[in-house]
Amino acid sequence: PGGIRLQALTKTYGRVSAVDGVDLEVAVGEFVTVVGPSGSGKSTLLRLIAGLEAPDVGGVWIDGLDMSRVPPHRRSVALVFQDYALYPHLTVVENILFGLRVRRVPRAEARRQAGEAAEQLGLADVLDRYPDQLSGGQRQRVALARALVRAPSAYLLDEPLAGLDAQLRLSTRADLLALHRDLGATTVHVTHDQAEAMTLGDRVVIMAGGRIRQAGPPQEVYDRP
Ligand code: ADP
Ligand code: ADP
Repeated sequence: PGGIRLQALTKTYGRVSAVDGVDLEVAVGEFVTVVGPSGSGKSTLLRLIAGLEAPDVGGVWIDGLDMSRVPPHRRSVALVFQDYALYPHLTVVENILFGLRVRRVPRAEARRQAGEAAEQLGLADVLDRYPDQLSGGQRQRVALARALVRAPSAYLLDEPLAGLDAQLRLSTRADLLALHRDLGATTVHVTHDQAEAMTLGDRVVIMAGGRIRQAGPPQEVYDRP
């Protein structure tokens, strides 16, 4: 069985239950948005899936594999953060190619794949620019392209639009939606923005206090009191 499965996932920091007994399955190709106020455990949830934290209780399965046996760098997930973390001394294409280093792809093939990802994200004209010569929206798209070329089993997006101004946020949101329609990629997208969660998610998971309070298709979750 592909996709992501979280079972009784629990992570406590001191007396804070950051993630508290979360059960969740994300099907192959499904786009799940996780929404909730600051401190509700969204980032911790992503870090647990990515393996940047070990759970106190429970586990993570990706494509049927028990992640307690798979170290972070071997997990087939791509994590994209709000602050895009591009290498300032590398050009756009070099930043994208960096995502392929982990896969040991031959150089010519790597270039081809990077070009294709850049094309998909509307970056074909800025391949040789440096990050400080890009808009915020372009930088975030480079981060997405770098994730894309790794062809991971799942994308983990942590507030990827939060650093953008209102207008760019809307256009980049539309880009994400289009990209998802193209790729049908398994995605967990964390946000505190309810409208964003409702627009992007095939399914919306509402978190509070480390727990899932509601989960369902956007209309359903939205309609409930
Ligand atoms: P969100 O992403 O929804 O804002 P987080 O997952 O960042 O929530 O945090 C959930 C709770 O866990 C918060 O109370 C936060 O202060 C706490 N927390 C998160 N990471 C750590 C950490 N490394 N050390 C201590 N407490 C943490
Ligand atoms: P160490 O204590 O040596 O860091 P751990 O056994 O705590 O090693 O964790 C090894 C790796 O597996 C880490 O990446 C950790 O995040 C992850 N991990 C541990 N237990 C689980 C689990 N039940 N589900 C998913 N990932 C886990």
